[in-house]
Amino acid sequence: METVYKKVFVTTAIDYANATIHIGHAYEKVLADAIARYYRAKKGENNVYFTTGTDEHGITNQQAAEKRGITPQEHVQDISSQDQAEIDSLNVSYTRFFRTTSEDHKHKAQEFFTKSMENGDIYKSAYKGLYCEGCEAYKTLSELTEDCKCPLHPTRQIQEYEEENYFFKWSKYEGFLKELIETNQLQILPGGRKKEMLAFIENGIQDIPISRPTYKLSWGIPVPNDPEQVIYVWFDALINYVTSGEANGFWDDDTYIIHFVGKDIARWHTLLWPTMLKSAGYRLPNTVYVHGFINLEGQKISKSRGNVIRPSELVEKYGTDAVRYYFLKHGPITEDVDISIKHFEEVYNADLANGLGNTTARLAKLAEKAKLSLDISPKFTLEIKDFRVDLAINELQQKLTELDKHINENTPWAIEDETKLKEVLTTEITQLVNIAENLKPFIPETVTKVQTTFLEGPIKAPEPLFPRIS
Ligand SMILES: [Zn+2]
Repeated sequence: METVYKKVFVTTAIDYANATIHIGHAYEKVLADAIARYYRAKKGENNVYFTTGTDEHGITNQQAAEKRGITPQEHVQDISSQDQAEIDSLNVSYTRFFRTTSEDHKHKAQEFFTKSMENGDIYKSAYKGLYCEGCEAYKTLSELTEDCKCPLHPTRQIQEYEEENYFFKWSKYEGFLKELIETNQLQILPGGRKKEMLAFIENGIQDIPISRPTYKLSWGIPVPNDPEQVIYVWFDALINYVTSGEANGFWDDDTYIIHFVGKDIARWHTLLWPTMLKSAGYRLPNTVYVHGFINLEGQKISKSRGNVIRPSELVEKYGTDAVRYYFLKHGPITEDVDISIKHFEEVYNADLANGLGNTTARLAKLAEKAKLSLDISPKFTLEIKDFRVDLAINELQQKLTELDKHINENTPWAIEDETKLKEVLTTEITQLVNIAENLKPFIPETVTKVQTTFLEGPIKAPEPLFPRIS
């Protein structure tokens, strides 16, 4: 579907700035980054826009700041820059690191609110209900556990809210949504998630509050013409995509728009977001890709369990590309996955130290000895189907195995005839640089090292790309 579009806009969700991100959040960044790099190679550098960032308003951030005894502004500034440093450690090539406290976003969120209101989709009403401050969402009793806790936030107390709010006429769009999703005008991947979302619609869509009174929540974007209310959660956070996309020419009909999100917020991106856009008169995204969660050694990753690992800690120990490779190959692309440091190190040794690293070292040594120089331009022929980066990597890994086999069968180290030797090495190195070229979206720094080794000047065996972990 995306082939007919000139441009591509890739987004990750933006993270709540209540605490710094950990490896559980890293997967989505690396996944979206690989896809952004893939499209840059296909469609040209300037035809791809890619955003990630932080969601900085809301009660959770206000409370986190209070707990620290600093202002919300100071708090979100601090967390946002820590998040950005974590994301940078993974070499994530975002075009803009988005912050919902930025000036242009405040204006856009207010403008969006006004458009939706003018279209008759926003009204003011009293509301009483159960609320999870962790999810920033109202809950029905059926969504809570038996002891009245949110299953996603079991340590938090469910609140009972009774207040005046602005509401969005979500229910009006039930039929529209059903058709949108059934006909794949909005593509939801993987397919199982589409069924889940259709089941949500079957249960009925109800209007939702989209503002909070300032005496309850002051840290937010003011509702236009009503200083006693702030816009909250989705009418603030989701609009980040339009703020940055539109300003840079990536929210138009020439652009393929894809959102990468975790399964916990799939509902908001697939069911609420399209109706908000429709209401305010904007085009809709093409695809929402929903990934699973990462567990660490069988446990949910959380501060209270004390098993939080930052991406930068892994990167410091194993290198950026090793971490990227592991996540992309073994991450929760469809379902939740369980990861462990032991498994990480096994994959590192098998695929990177022995696989790509060893093959590169072997061929470079032989080429150096044979005084070989090459004039080839590597070809990017990668096709990633349905965003399955894991399958694309497996295929390339298979090609590397075949190349290894070719080397072992042709034993270039034993060939004495110089012409024959150069011929065999040229064939094998051409294969290697082509495989490497196609690995570029996944492990870009390593690929540059491989290409430099073979394609720039006299070939010399490089430092080990991935030193073995013993
Ligand atoms: Zn919750």
